[in-house]
Amino acid sequence: GLTYDVVVVGGGAAGLSTAASILKRRGGITLAIIEPSGSHFYQPGWTLVGGGVFKQSQTRRSEKKLIPAGADWVQAAATGFEPEANLVHLSDGSSIRYEVLVVATGLTLDWDAIEGLSETLGRNGVTSNYRYDLAPYTWQMVQTLGRGNAVFTQPPMPIKCAGAPQKAMYLACDAWRRRGLGDNINVSFHTATPGLFGVKEFVPPLMDYINRYHIDLCLKSNLTKVDGKGRIATFENVAADGSKTTSEVEFDMLHVVPPQRAPDVIRNSALAGDGGWVSVDPATLRHTKFANVFALGDVAGTSNAKTAAAVRVQAPVVAVNVLATLDHKPAVADYDGYGACPLTVERGKIVLAEFAYGGKLAPTLPTWLLNGRKPTHLAWFLKEWVMPALYWDGMLRGHELMVAPHKIGTPR
Ligand code: FAD
Repeated sequence: GLTYDVVVVGGGAAGLSTAASILKRRGGITLAIIEPSGSHFYQPGWTLVGGGVFKQSQTRRSEKKLIPAGADWVQAAATGFEPEANLVHLSDGSSIRYEVLVVATGLTLDWDAIEGLSETLGRNGVTSNYRYDLAPYTWQMVQTLGRGNAVFTQPPMPIKCAGAPQKAMYLACDAWRRRGLGDNINVSFHTATPGLFGVKEFVPPLMDYINRYHIDLCLKSNLTKVDGKGRIATFENVAADGSKTTSEVEFDMLHVVPPQRAPDVIRNSALAGDGGWVSVDPATLRHTKFANVFALGDVAGTSNAKTAAAVRVQAPVVAVNVLATLDHKPAVADYDGYGACPLTVERGKIVLAEFAYGGKLAPTLPTWLLNGRKPTHLAWFLKEWVMPALYWDGMLRGHELMVAPHKIGTPR
């Protein structure tokens, strides 16, 4: 098989950003990106597709056009890892050898974990912003629903962009309010989590909107089954004393966020740690056992918010550490756990939650300019107009815009 200085597995947000950052820092090295898909998706845009703000097509581009100059694209999936031998096995039957490996496969959406869900997705009012093809159906349902029950769900953690389940709901509620339907549509939010949001500072502004939209908030309520034709969703509820009960809820519209897990190819490999995620040092993002392996993005076994915002900061950290490893030097850059979740609480306003490891608040802009604990027009402007450009033309091309130099790490 072929040998490369660097092999990047996954050409999503993390894989492309890291590859571009490595090649921008040092030309002349050999680098391969293993990615089976011919399309790349800007997933943060799907919330705005489901909210009727973006067109679906704005969130998809050809993978080929995004592969950075100097990288080879291997259009195949990784099917196995042999880190002792520096080998990755591919779906076309071949293998590829590396000096340094970067794992960036993202996570697996487990639609089949919910009984009856797969066969009714996209029909009977059952939708999800977590899929490119279904996000437009969310907006279609929002526009056509005149009365009845709208149910929104969130699975157990960890999930990517933990705010996205409620973002879909607030944008729907806002659209209904503008059409004067606020009293006709009963909205409920069923989340398997014990709280509305994991970082306490952001709960009060979100609760304001739960109250404003008269949303029935059901904590520790986990979707287990969907009967599409009968329009019934079944939840498992955990009571205060820990006892479990089952409840059935009738719906006219059901927005589902599926359970999420580490991909099987990672889970079943020597790279896996807790929960099947890649076991890495939370600061250097280097594998805890294999010194020439790094992981970032959703597949990494770190406690940050699984977001593209986290990838924006992780990618240069991994790039710097990969190059140090090629030079047989120790890792030099540290990641602080930064992640961000722009909560679209109404059309035109966002609560921008930015935080690092341990839930430590980590605002990028000074608070007098943008207070993330309040809904602001500026945060919405960033989401609609700045973030997509920052993504396509900034991070995917290896430009470290808006990444404070101290976050890329100081020599240690
Ligand atoms: P991905 O971007 O998912 O890429 C993984 C890539 O790996 C894919 O291209 C896949 O084809 C490839 N792959 C998978 N298996 C293999 C294999 N075996 N071999 C080779 N390649 C493989 N983030 C934010 O920052 N802000 C937001 O507002 C936001 N909103 C979101 C809303 C929604 C509805 C969703 C779904 C996500 C949202 N996110 C948001 C999260 C963000 O999209 C992800 O955190 C980000 O894409 C993670 O990047 P990644 O490269 O790890 O994974």
